[in-house]
Amino acid sequence: MEAGLKDIAAKKAKLLTSGAVKLSSKVRLPFAPSRSTAGPGAGTVGIVIAFGGHRVKKAISMEKGEFELLETEKGYSLTYHDQPFLETVEIQPTLFHAPEQAFFNVETECIYDCKFCTSRKLEKKITKDLTPEKIVKMILDSSKRPDFKAVALTSAVVKSPGITVDKMVYIVTEVRKALGQDIPIGVEPYVDSIEQIDRLKQAGANEFKMNLETFDQDIFRKVCGELDLEWIMKALAHAVQVFGKGKVCSNIIIGMGESDENALAGMKALSAIGVVATLRPLRVNDLNRHSLEEVLGKLEPIREERLIRLAKEQKRILEKYQLSTLTFQTMCHSCGCCDIVPFRDI
Ligand code: SF4
Ligand code: SF4
Repeated sequence: MEAGLKDIAAKKAKLLTSGAVKLSSKVRLPFAPSRSTAGPGAGTVGIVIAFGGHRVKKAISMEKGEFELLETEKGYSLTYHDQPFLETVEIQPTLFHAPEQAFFNVETECIYDCKFCTSRKLEKKITKDLTPEKIVKMILDSSKRPDFKAVALTSAVVKSPGITVDKMVYIVTEVRKALGQDIPIGVEPYVDSIEQIDRLKQAGANEFKMNLETFDQDIFRKVCGELDLEWIMKALAHAVQVFGKGKVCSNIIIGMGESDENALAGMKALSAIGVVATLRPLRVNDLNRHSLEEVLGKLEPIREERLIRLAKEQKRILEKYQLSTLTFQTMCHSCGCCDIVPFRDI
C-alpha cells in the first residue's frame, strides 16, 4: 500500500533535500527533460516527478544518483539507495521551465553577486540568448498547448533594475494584448523604485514576487551585500497595495546558517504586510558551493525533518494572517516543485 499523506509529504522533503535521480539508458521518458536557467535547479537538466498530488523537479544523471527511476508495468517507480521509495510515480511535462506555466528567465547575467545564485554563472549556450521579442513569441506559441495555464517572468539584473523592468513591461504588455485578460501573469523582478512596481501592474501583471532571500541581517550582508533588505520589505509592502493581499510573494532561503526562529520571524514579518513567503531549501552545487562557503563557512545539509517542521509552522502563520499559497496561479506557489508548500503539500 502507498504511504499515508504525512509520509508522502516527508518523501517529498527527502527528494528536496537529497541528490539526483539516476536514469539508466533503458528508461524511456514520455517527455524531453528540461534545462532550467533560474530557480534552485538552474544549470541542471531535470524532470518533474509527480506522486500522490505532490510534485518535485529533480536533476537527472545517467551516471549516478541517490534515487533511481525505474520503468514498471504500471509506469514508473523510484528507489532510494536501491530500496523501494515510491511505488508509482508519474513524469509530468513542463511547458517552459514549470508544469503548466510558460515561465521565462528574461536575463541571466547580473550586476549583483548573490553568493547562492547559479543563474548568472551559466554559459551563454545554456541561457539560450533570449530576447524579449523571442520570449513573447514563445509564450504565444505555447499558449496553444492544452496544458498552458499561466505566464511567469523572472530575471537577473543586466545593467540596472529599471532596464530589466522595461523588458518585463514590454513582454507583459504584448502577452496581455494577444491573450486577453484571463491568463494569469506573474512577475519576479528586482526593482529599485516604487514606480517600477506600478508599471508592471499597469502593463497587466497579476502577481508579484521579490525575494527577501534571508531575514538574518548578518547572513544577508554576507550573501546579498549589494541588495538592501529594508528596501525589499518596503517594495513588497507597496506591491501588496498595488497587486493585492495574496498576490505578492517572496523567497526565504533555508540552509544558509539561519535559525528556525529567524526564518519564522521573516515569515511573520512578511505575512504581517500581506506577503506569502516561500521557504526555499538551499541547493548547493558546483556552481555556488565555493562562493557560499567562502562567506558562510561549511554549510550543514538541510534535513527533511526541518523542512517539514518549518512548513507546518509556516502554515500556522499564514492561517493566522488569513493568507494562503492557494491564491497564486503563477510562479513557485502554483508550481510547487521546489518546496514543501503549505496547503498543497501539508
Ligand atoms: S539579484 Fe542576486 S539572485 Fe538575482 S540574479 Fe542577481 S545575483 Fe542572482
Ligand atoms: S517551484 Fe519555482 S523555481 Fe521550482 S521549478 Fe517551479 S517555478 Fe521553478
